[in-house]
Amino acid sequence: FFIAIEGGDGAGKSTQVEALANWIRSKGHEVVVTREPGATAVGKRLRSILLDVSSTGISHRAEALLYAADRAQHVDSVVRPALARGAVVISDRYIDSSVAYQGAGRDLAPTEIARINRWATDGLIPHLTVLLDVAPETARERFTEAPDRLESEPAAFHQRVRAGFLTLAAADPARYLVVDAGQAPDVVTTVVRHRLDQLLP
Ligand code: C5P
Repeated sequence: FFIAIEGGDGAGKSTQVEALANWIRSKGHEVVVTREPGATAVGKRLRSILLDVSSTGISHRAEALLYAADRAQHVDSVVRPALARGAVVISDRYIDSSVAYQGAGRDLAPTEIARINRWATDGLIPHLTVLLDVAPETARERFTEAPDRLESEPAAFHQRVRAGFLTLAAADPARYLVVDAGQAPDVVTTVVRHRLDQLLP
């Protein structure tokens, strides 16, 4: 069973991933917690290229392909093997992050970003995608460390990313759960647990 947790920077994804993993483990499942970009050795190198300020000026197509390369390596070496042995996989970000950031956020067509990622993942789609939706201004207040290259993008960029995620969710309500991530973390976890209770094997 494959779960993706999506949302803008500072939406609280890592907190929710951890809480959900603990809860699913307590039900007796093997849980693999993973993330994009940077879950594999190759991915860590790609992540440092993607997020380093020295990459400012990277072409938008090159950026999109590096995220897709990270994802291909991640799916082939981590996600598919875990799913094949029956584990529940929770990924902090997946394809929809690319459609939202490199598509809606940049000037690339979201349908084209979806297409290269379908190829990169050989068509692997999560059973459930949780969108932690929060206004970028609220999310920004949660940053504790120095912002990376993307977090330094102007507010308008993060507004487009948020709208991109919401468009994806509206187009596929059966696969998506949109949660107001401005709520307290334990409230958010409870909402997601409720949905997963009906879905988990
Ligand atoms: O979620 P995490 O903080 O690890 O993501 C790292 C950075 O990469 C974030 O600033 C996020 O905005 C950016 N990102 C992106 N496009 C993606 C995935 C992440 O711009 N497809």
